[in-house]
Amino acid sequence: MSCKVVLAQGISASYREELKNTIKSRNIRPKLVGFLANEDPAAAKYAEWTAKTCAETGVEFELRTCARNDLEDKIIEANQDAGVHGIMVYYPVFGDRQDQYLQNVVDVSKDVEGLHHKYVYNMYHNIRFLDEAKTKKCIIPCTPLGLVKVMEYVGVYNGILPHGNRLHGRVVTIINRSEIVGRPLAALLANDGARVYSVDINGIQEFHRGVGLQLKKHEVTETTLKVEDVLPLSDVVITGVPSPSYKVPSNLIRDGAVCINFSTFKNFDGEEIKKKAAIYVPAVGKVTVAMLERNLVRLYDYQNQDRAA
Ligand code: NAD
Repeated sequence: MSCKVVLAQGISASYREELKNTIKSRNIRPKLVGFLANEDPAAAKYAEWTAKTCAETGVEFELRTCARNDLEDKIIEANQDAGVHGIMVYYPVFGDRQDQYLQNVVDVSKDVEGLHHKYVYNMYHNIRFLDEAKTKKCIIPCTPLGLVKVMEYVGVYNGILPHGNRLHGRVVTIINRSEIVGRPLAALLANDGARVYSVDINGIQEFHRGVGLQLKKHEVTETTLKVEDVLPLSDVVITGVPSPSYKVPSNLIRDGAVCINFSTFKNFDGEEIKKKAAIYVPAVGKVTVAMLERNLVRLYDYQNQDRAA
């Protein structure tokens, strides 16, 4: 078995180091507030990692727990507090459209997760800057962004191609089409040139920019394809099915593929996948947290620029 197992700890190391150096050399103390209003053990674990990484890099992190019906008021309070530079919420809170509403209650200038409609819209439309002068990059949702960084780290992005086209020729299957991770990730990768098969419980959509990347931003087409059709074609398989019993069929994975799991559960059979994959990334949580902090430092700078203007 020649599979290389790549851990999120190693992938995130250079980002954590860079954050630590930036915060120390500039003598700044950006503050992130995390709101926990559910009983989800995965959310508590994510909060624990956030606290640990923040302590290591020099970010001030405060976890605020509250009842879910108080969350909106608590977010508004943090929006108005100039001492808070970034806000995040551990979802799901209500598990329905109210969560989408709450994502838009977080002030756009403090949204470290990049879930506000403005950021989501810009991402789907391949708008990469907030201003015309192109001085402020848009915030990208941190789990999809983390997955992009994982793919850069393991060499899926081709560095000799221009930025924005570095996935030209790559075929990627993503098993998850949630609004938080799977659909934005499919759009990001297709905008960067990949042909993406986006799988959910109801079927498969294809995201792409056409032959020769003729389109400026991706388009989406419905397909009648099945998982057994797309897995053997895929250079990269990314999965995030929130179920302990779900396993990606290893026999369908292309020999030498890159396999990445972002679900809390192990969607790949650890032993079987190593017989097929060239690279296996079993989890990505630590990269997500590093992206969260990177977004925080960016927003901290934007807030200071706006105050100085
Ligand atoms: P979700 O429930 O909103 O979405 C699940 C998606 O998987 C849906 O698109 C659904 O159709 C699809 N799906 C479910 N069963 C399927 C099947 N059998 N075949 C094909 N598709 C199937 O969940 P979510 O918020 O996207 O989270 C998914 C997982 O990712 C969870 O385990 C969550 O904890 C984890 N997560 C990890 C990170 C991280 O940074 N590591 C961040 C966010 C979420």
